[in-house]
Amino acid sequence: MASKVRVRFAPSPTGPLHIGGLRTALYNYLFAKKHDGDFILRIEDTDQNRFVPGAEQYIKDALQWCGITYDEGPEKDKGYGPYKQSERKPLYKQYADELIKKGKAYYAFDTPEVLDNHRKEHEAKGKTFIYNWHNREKLTNSLTLTEDQVNTKIKAGEPYVIRFKAPKEKILELNDVIRGTISIDTNILDDKVLFKSDGMPTYHLANIVDDHLMEITHVIRGEEWLPSLALHHLLYEAFDWTPPIFAHLPLILKPTGKGKLSKRDGEKGGFPIFPLSWNESLGYKEAGYFPEAVVNFLAMLGWNPGTEEEVFSLEQLIEKFSLDRVNKSGARFDPEKNKWYNQQHLQQKSIKELAGLFTTTLETKQIPAELSTTEKATQVVSLVKERASFVSDLWELSNYFFTTPTHYEEKAVKKQWKEQTPTLISQVKEVINNVEEFTSENIESAVKHWIKAQELSFGKVMPPLRLVIVGDMKGPHLFDIISFIGKTETNKRIDNALNNL
Ligand code: GLU
Repeated sequence: MASKVRVRFAPSPTGPLHIGGLRTALYNYLFAKKHDGDFILRIEDTDQNRFVPGAEQYIKDALQWCGITYDEGPEKDKGYGPYKQSERKPLYKQYADELIKKGKAYYAFDTPEVLDNHRKEHEAKGKTFIYNWHNREKLTNSLTLTEDQVNTKIKAGEPYVIRFKAPKEKILELNDVIRGTISIDTNILDDKVLFKSDGMPTYHLANIVDDHLMEITHVIRGEEWLPSLALHHLLYEAFDWTPPIFAHLPLILKPTGKGKLSKRDGEKGGFPIFPLSWNESLGYKEAGYFPEAVVNFLAMLGWNPGTEEEVFSLEQLIEKFSLDRVNKSGARFDPEKNKWYNQQHLQQKSIKELAGLFTTTLETKQIPAELSTTEKATQVVSLVKERASFVSDLWELSNYFFTTPTHYEEKAVKKQWKEQTPTLISQVKEVINNVEEFTSENIESAVKHWIKAQELSFGKVMPPLRLVIVGDMKGPHLFDIISFIGKTETNKRIDNALNNL
């Protein structure tokens, strides 16, 4: 590649960034970093009717959480700014004018009511109204009015738009890295509005002008922009500019594989659709996902490394990423697989890091200081890590280490708690209390010794003892737990059970 790769993520701040937008940002980022290029954030906020407060900040926060850092963007001007289209407003008019001068665009004065009538008339005949070569000569625009008439209208403040004059009878051969060559007959194109009477450019004009001025080399964006490719291509041609290379990413499909993934699918299926929470919608972050897991599953949604490998860090993804391994067809969103990615990334974390995160959980649960030490957290994490997919699972899998059971699993009680059990458990309590150095081995040997001496079976003592300590029949080696919670807590749990069962 001759010039330095420059790509951009160009969201419109019309709401929270959904997982599809985040994937577009990620692929741009991976591509830029792979080629030692620049990744630019540009805020496309020309449509003021759709502006949502907080959305721009949300986008920045989401990118930051994922570790997708931009080289240029708002507040990070490297000479191509401003990076918000609303702040570039004065710039666009001259480009619209340039196209008019070149005869590639024209003023149109048709009112919304007139256009609406045309639409309705066409509909009544089962046709669709398209403003283009076949009727532009009959409508109210600078192609049909004299220059004087046009100037008078503009001076009088009559609202107008500037429309692109789409060429007639031309077959365009358009290239897309992912889809190959696409042929488009320009006769089907409409004369798109480039500039509106409110003095704002439309998405199409602003997008092309900015990509040109910002020296964007590759446009990587969602498939929903594919229908705009012909117009964008024609605009580059009209300006005599070299177009960037285009890559349109496949859609993200519903878990069923049918249709585009929507916010409602997340609500129905109980899985996040946004990276961070937005109003009442839960985000991946708040649901307990690691950002590296989200990045990993997004990368794999529509791209593959060409091997069976699936678990990658951001750095590894940069190294492996290429546009020619992006699929053409839609990618099915699989919430269960996403959990699997989180589990994989959790397993890769060190006991030390997880213990740190787990200590925070213990603090919020207000676990007594002597039980919420780093040492205790480390011990427990080593025991349960393997079975955890989320940090919150660590607590689910180990809460009995930290809290006295408040209820006892019903089936287990029925099966284990017999008439002579309270007497036996009281005696075991004494045996345990006589152990001096309170290690798992010492307690185990004392208890087992006593069981044998009493000529009891293990089944009469061990399962009810577990029920007393854990509240259930689950958990690792019982004497590890008893040693962990200590003598006082063990006594408390035994007394509780004796009083309540
Ligand atoms: N502003 C457009 C969007 O919201 C950008 C499309 C493009 O990347 O060209 O997705």
